[in-house]
Order: sequence, then structure tokens, then C-alpha cells
Amino acid sequence: MTVPAGADRLVRQKIKELTPYHPVEAPEHLAARLGMPLDNIVKLDQNENPYGCSLLVQEALASFDRYHHYPDPDARAVRQRLGIYAGANPERVIVGAGSDELIDVLLQTLVDPDDEVIVPAPTFGWYRARTELFGGLVREVQRDENFDLPVEAIIDSVHERTKVVFLTSPNNPTGNMASNQDIVRILETGVIVVVDEAYFEFSGKTVMPLTREFDNLVVLRTFSKWAGIAGLRFGYGVFSEALVGHVMKVKSPFTITSAAFQAVEASLDDLEYLHVTINRIRTERRRMHRRLTALDYMQPFPSVANFVLTRVTRGEAHDVHQRLADRGIMVRKYSDDRLRDFLRISVGKPEDTDRLMNALQTIGAHV
Ligand code: PMP
Repeated sequence: MTVPAGADRLVRQKIKELTPYHPVEAPEHLAARLGMPLDNIVKLDQNENPYGCSLLVQEALASFDRYHHYPDPDARAVRQRLGIYAGANPERVIVGAGSDELIDVLLQTLVDPDDEVIVPAPTFGWYRARTELFGGLVREVQRDENFDLPVEAIIDSVHERTKVVFLTSPNNPTGNMASNQDIVRILETGVIVVVDEAYFEFSGKTVMPLTREFDNLVVLRTFSKWAGIAGLRFGYGVFSEALVGHVMKVKSPFTITSAAFQAVEASLDDLEYLHVTINRIRTERRRMHRRLTALDYMQPFPSVANFVLTRVTRGEAHDVHQRLADRGIMVRKYSDDRLRDFLRISVGKPEDTDRLMNALQTIGAHV
């Protein structure tokens, strides 16, 4: 029997046409390209905690002896702990392999082909990419010149096919919050409002209490940023009673590893350490913002997260990005029209800021 040529003829047309989501390059690749030890790379492109995870996490993982068993599909112990940490009913907590997974599961629960999802741009690119993957239509609404939410435009965009509005607070990459008042106005339209609080621990402000009032509110959080376990993949969400059972029907039971469960419990056992690192990052954010402001070709925006978005006012942001990469410093660049002239820089340790600033001073003389 002859095998027909071109296995790609079997790929769904929708997938052939899909624009891929491009995650950033791994630091190992840059280190290899530059012939530089990995430890010399300054990684300021994914908003991770530069101080790493709690030592209790390392100890828990080293001594755990049940990796041959499947993880608990019910996540009972961790959901109990998260309920206490987040001030939520554990019955309404759903955990995922990163909040990325929960965004997928929620969209798969809600969105039929041609249903609409409102995304106030610029924001985290995953909402658009995954809505399109699952057959939904993205209705992008532009934030204003300070990147504040266009509340009226959002409310005007809601119609009978609208299922979800994604509000990110603090927003990635702009670093600003959505006000409670604006969130409530959007909740009052009745569509599902996802408040993605991936950076909550850096801002200290949450809408969690509103989950008791509004059954159309979903709050998402992650352990990737503040808790320093991005590599273990763990996020959680708080859903209303009306949604939780349906979302659980969609979620695959074994996506979260036992290692992640161990790490989450150990992190919650060591909040004191993690809060020390969060406070250091907040202090460093202020210093980095001040130092960026002092450069004559950077215009940083205020941020309550662990990163700062800055406009590059002379030369090209992509060129600055490349020149930083050539020196082993990784920051985030953008290719969409609105952010082409911007860079997002995660807050690192003081020595990371120093290396960044030295490089930016040198680069500034050439652009
Ligand atoms: N939401 C926002 C706003 C983010 O910035 C990120 C990470 N870039 C995520 C969700 C996903 O986080 P994770 O999947 O690591 O939990």
C-alpha cells in the first residue's frame, strides 16, 4: 500500500490558518549563542521572582517519595490551603498547570464558534491566541493613552454573543490596575468577567471579596511570579457555584504534577520568606523606575507589578532589545503596532538593575 504524501493534509484548516503564540526564547539558547555561562544572563523578560522559590520547596521536593503515584485529581489539600490564603471557599477553587491552563479550560467551557471575547488591549497575548484556537472571535478594545480601561467602549461592545471580558489587574504589560468601580460596572453587564490577578502579590489589591456577590466573576492567580515556581507550573482560579462544576467537567484531572502540589504547600508554609522577596522587588521597582526616568531616551510608565513598561523615545525599541541581548540581558519586546516602541523590563535584583542601566547608558550613546 502506498502511503499518501503530505500528512499535513489531515491538519484542520483552522489550525493551518492559526497565528501561533510565540513564547520568548529560553535563556539557555541565548547563553549558548553568546558563549556565556547561563548564570551571567540577566533574565528580565518573564516577570519571574529573581530570588527563587522558598528553601522549603527545595526540601519538600527532595524528600517527596511518591512520584510513582498519580497526583490527587481533587487537589483537596492544596485547595483547602488556597482557600485560606486567598479568602475564598475551597469548594470554588480550581487549580491548573499554570493559570494558562485555566484560561484554556474556561474558554472551552464558555465559547461556542463565533461567540465573542472582549480583550482590552494591550494586554497578555494568551487571551487572544486561545480564544481564536477555540473558535471564538476576539473583540479588541483599545485602552486609553495611559492604558486605563476603556469602560464605556467595553460596555458598548457587549452584545448577545459576548461570553467573556478579560481584565488583567495589574495589567501585563502596562503595570496599572483596574479600579473596583470599573470592574463592577462591567460585571453588571452580566457577561463572565475574568479578573486575572497574576501580579496580585506585588500590588496587594484584589477583587476576591466580590466573588461572593457576583456569580459571573472569575479571579485567576498564579504561583509563577511571586512564589518563584514558574518552572513547576501552578495557578488557581476562584469560580462561582454556578460555574465551578461545569469548568471541572472540562478540566483534565492530572495536569498538575505532585511536585507542583508539594511546592505550593511548602510555599504557603514560608510566606514570611516570600514576602521579604516581594518587598525587595517593590523597592527595586521604584529604583529601576527612577533610573529609567533619568535616561534621556526612556519614558517608563508607573507600575504596581514586578515589571515596568517603558517607551523608547529615540532609536528603535527592537534595536535596543537586540543590543541588550548581545550583552546577555533579556527584556521583552513587542511586534504589534501599539507597543512596537516599548520594552517591558521585569524587576530583578539590584545588581541586575545595575547591569541593565550600565548597558542602557552605553546603548543610549549609539541610538
Ligand atoms: N496571566 C498573566 C497576566 C500573565 O502575565 C501570565 C504569565 N505571563 C499568566 C497569566 C500565566 O501564568 P502561568 O501560566 O505561569 O500561571
